Amino acid sequence: MAEQVVIIGSGPAGWSAAIYAARAALNPLVFEGAITEENRLQGTLPLGQLALTTEVENYAGFPAGRLDTFLSSALDPARLQGLPGIDEHVHAVTGPELMELMRQQAVNFGTRIITDDVVDVDLESRPFRVMAREGETIETHTLIVATGARANYLGLPSEERFKNRGVSACAVCDGALPRFRQRPLVVVGGGDSAIEEATHLAKYAARVSLVHRRDALRASRIMQQRAFDNPKIEIVWNHVVDEVLGTDDDGVTAVRLRSTVADATRELPCSGLFLAIGHTPNTSFLRGKLDTTDKGYIRWTAAFRTSTSVPGVFAAGDVADDYYRQAITSAGTGCMAALDAERYLVEQNL
Ligand code: NAP
Repeated sequence: MAEQVVIIGSGPAGWSAAIYAARAALNPLVFEGAITEENRLQGTLPLGQLALTTEVENYAGFPAGRLDTFLSSALDPARLQGLPGIDEHVHAVTGPELMELMRQQAVNFGTRIITDDVVDVDLESRPFRVMAREGETIETHTLIVATGARANYLGLPSEERFKNRGVSACAVCDGALPRFRQRPLVVVGGGDSAIEEATHLAKYAARVSLVHRRDALRASRIMQQRAFDNPKIEIVWNHVVDEVLGTDDDGVTAVRLRSTVADATRELPCSGLFLAIGHTPNTSFLRGKLDTTDKGYIRWTAAFRTSTSVPGVFAAGDVADDYYRQAITSAGTGCMAALDAERYLVEQNL
């Protein structure tokens, strides 16, 4: 028998959609993604981008304070184990904790979960067909796509060569590795992510050079001030990384910087290069099947609705939003998608 609602994705949008769909007795099934090295490298592991961040200060309902007591009582002990920083945790909630709580909240209402990637969908058949990497095919009357977005890389061959040996797009995942401790590091980007990465890395590194291609940061003022106030962070204005330098034995040893305002290059010694230069939506499995923007983000087809170009398919979170991209807006559109799916099922007598 076909499912009522299948949700693809396990970030704030996916779990919020699941919580609402489960409470509406739609018995949702979530594909949360697979735990593979490939997904780790490209930042698409289950629980989404928030699981790759540190403290979350701006998600309403999670104020600063001792949340460890609350978390211990709320989570299954098996999932609690290994959450970073839980013992000394006295300030706001962390991204991984928030995601575990959302997942558990969805499970508590009866959400079923498959830990696999969706690799293809057939949106022409009714019900729709959803194909997973391990070969499972599920039929469903409605589909909520909440697959989020992943970090971009510069696209240099030398960057590819040193991935896992000094090049990373996730300071929180990799920053504490021995190869980076007490070493000079480079972060590329000028947005909130770049500052967040640089601030996180500054805890372990000898110094952090934030390389930005312009002479003004894109980041919010409060984040900018954090970078300016941190004595370990130096901002290298008007430069881009031209080449990653290193050896097979040592990994990254330096980057070559190119000025964006003069005809000049120079080498900056470092043991690590962290990219924070924006995101790409995870929509490759949908190519040609749903209307997307030039950048691949799914297009919502009506104002303040999560409907897409295929009736019965809804999109939520960063996969359809290259503008707000916040945990709380993703959660909000996840809720909307579940309500839209519920109304669609009623209208279609499904
Ligand atoms: P973003 O705001 O799009 O910033 C990307 C940065 O990378 C920009 O400074 C951009 O330079 C630079 N860039 C892009 N392509 C580049 C290239 N090829 N070479 C060199 N530099 C390049 O992305 P984000 O920082 O990931 O933030 C995304 C969203 O998440 C934002 O809405 C942000 O507010 C939010 N966020 C919030 C927090 C927080 O509040 N704690 C933390 C992280 C992210 P230009 O400025 O020149 O375009």
